[in-house]
Amino acid sequence: MKGDMEREKRTFKQEMKDDSNLRRLAVVVRDSNDAVTVQDFTSRILAWNLGAERMYGYTEKEALGMNVLDLVPQECREENRRMLAGLAKGEPVTSFETRRLTKDGRVLDVWLIVTTLPDEEGRIRAFSTTERDITERKRKEQELIIANKELAFQNREKEKRADELIIANKELIYQNEEKEKRAEELKKAVADLRRSNEELQQSRDALKASEALLPAAIDILPVGLWIIDAEGKIVTSSAAAQRIWAGVRYVGIDQLGEYKGWRTDSGKPIEAHEWAGARALEKGETTIEQEVEIVCFDGTHKIILDSAVPLRRSDGSIGGAVTINQDITERRRAEEALHLANAYNRSLIEASLDPLVTIGRDGKITDVNAATEKVTGYSRQDLVGNDFLEYFLEPEKARAGYQRVFKEGCVVDYPLEIRHKDGRITSVLYNASVYRDEKGEVSGVFAAARDITERKRAEEALRRAVADLKRSNEELQQFAYVASHDLQEPLRAVASFTQLLSERYKGKLDKDADEFIAFAVGGANRMQTLINDLLSYSRLETRGKPPEPVDSHDALGRALANLGTAIRESGALVTNDDLPKVLADESQLAQLFQNLVGNAVKFHGKEPPRVHVSAVSQGNEWLFSVRDNGIGIAQEYHERIFSIFQRLHSREEYPGTGIGLALCKRIVERHGGTIRVESEPGSGSTFFFTLPKP
Ligand code: ADP
Repeated sequence: MKGDMEREKRTFKQEMKDDSNLRRLAVVVRDSNDAVTVQDFTSRILAWNLGAERMYGYTEKEALGMNVLDLVPQECREENRRMLAGLAKGEPVTSFETRRLTKDGRVLDVWLIVTTLPDEEGRIRAFSTTERDITERKRKEQELIIANKELAFQNREKEKRADELIIANKELIYQNEEKEKRAEELKKAVADLRRSNEELQQSRDALKASEALLPAAIDILPVGLWIIDAEGKIVTSSAAAQRIWAGVRYVGIDQLGEYKGWRTDSGKPIEAHEWAGARALEKGETTIEQEVEIVCFDGTHKIILDSAVPLRRSDGSIGGAVTINQDITERRRAEEALHLANAYNRSLIEASLDPLVTIGRDGKITDVNAATEKVTGYSRQDLVGNDFLEYFLEPEKARAGYQRVFKEGCVVDYPLEIRHKDGRITSVLYNASVYRDEKGEVSGVFAAARDITERKRAEEALRRAVADLKRSNEELQQFAYVASHDLQEPLRAVASFTQLLSERYKGKLDKDADEFIAFAVGGANRMQTLINDLLSYSRLETRGKPPEPVDSHDALGRALANLGTAIRESGALVTNDDLPKVLADESQLAQLFQNLVGNAVKFHGKEPPRVHVSAVSQGNEWLFSVRDNGIGIAQEYHERIFSIFQRLHSREEYPGTGIGLALCKRIVERHGGTIRVESEPGSGSTFFFTLPKP
């Protein structure tokens, strides 16, 4: 009993060795250009290779189970029957020339080789035929035969004539030449035939060489290939297979548990008998690309596609299996990364408060974010697939913008109005650009809208406020002008008559009368100054000249001349640095200096006034400063003093109307500059102002 088993094992090993050869051959046979088929004695087709598919036009699926007689033309059926009878009687294997029918009805000349396929007991239940298409060769042979026959006929003819007739020598020679020519052709045809025979031999050699190449080819396969025997033991493993698993364990089917993994779809671990290879072996199942996560022998994890097919012996029993593993770890990882990146991008897009939309080349919306749903009032499902123009107040303008994106690649701040389902309008600015597919072809437009409803509202409010302000300013100016101008006349009368009163009746009435008259004269004079100041203030705009390059030094000169008396009386010393040319209205510039220097002289402390004027360059402007050593100004008044009628002292302390600095501010601002003061009480003041360079 034990002996039997030993023997069985030995023959099995032998068989496996043969089997591996057989399998290699099987691949060769499968791909051969010759039609190789297996049939049984009822003429049922059991196997069908690629060559047969190509030659006869039936796919393997169509051919399996088909009757061979479908391929045998009527006139060859008898011959086929004889062959079957001979094979059944055990007559030796034969080869012969015959004809076969293709699926589309062509008749082929074939060279047919019959090989019987004995089963393990030596009984012949099936046989294989190999058919080579020799239609072309036959045609050539046929031509040759015809040529031959013709030659023979001609020869006979010529000889007959030679016997019967006396023909001219030349004629004979000619005939001979003809014959030689034909003979030459014949030789050529024979050579052709020989060559085609040689080619046949060569292809047989190539076949042998390719058998030897097979193991090498297995090793350079990018996928891992395993061949396992009927016991589940690994017989062959390609280099890629060992790379994938970081090694190989030549185990039997019951120890396949050494190979660890689980299905990625269910997460269930794979038992020894569940591997694709084991199932092929034990149940004859074919598995195609089952995704499995494996634990390799070095402890790393990989994701592979596991496929297996059973290898059947000629009697149909399973003699082993072929397993193919494909490492897709990197692919999965890349897919996952892509998936994550997509999810990340998507969340960014969704988080955007700006309505974002993609539009295909046909103008149909392909994607939107939540902000778009909000601004239109329609859901994503409603929007996607619809024409984007539908959601704008001015569809034609929207279309023009869309077309511009295609023409120029993008648009920036393109104004449009989106219409909400409920009729509400949102003003937006569109920024859009084309986007391309992997091939670089423009596949659509990506557009982002910025809601500017609020901005527009604010702009409108501002515009209205500015207009209101301008109008009220103009009215005020008009009022100041009219008031001061019309007041001048009666005031002049009051002033001159009180003056007269004072001149004529001073000392002639009582003391009180003198005092009252003096008050009236003083009041009238003050009022005249006030009205003059007011007039010049209101005339600033109306009488102002357009700015032109002027020498600020000259303007200061004029101001100092006007201040002559005040400067002399106070004993002030006014100095200045080099002063530049500026872009200004010259008389207003003189007025500016006059007011500032005048104040500097007026608001002096115990020391005699010291005033210094200078200018430094600052970009496109000159920064002027008028510095004094006077009483200074407390921080809290630094702004207020530039408003009209704002004074910090009583008339008795320091005379004035409170218009001077307001006038300065308006002059400077009219020239596009700014004015401010730096000062502290008791430490003097410095007034800074800027004017444009010419
Ligand atoms: P006025 O000189 O007619 O009073 P201004 O508009 O010229 O009016 O000046 C407003 C106020 O600013 C002045 O009353 C004074 O209190 C203060 N002021 C202006 N210039 C100076 C200065 N150089 N030093 C101290 N105080 C000043």
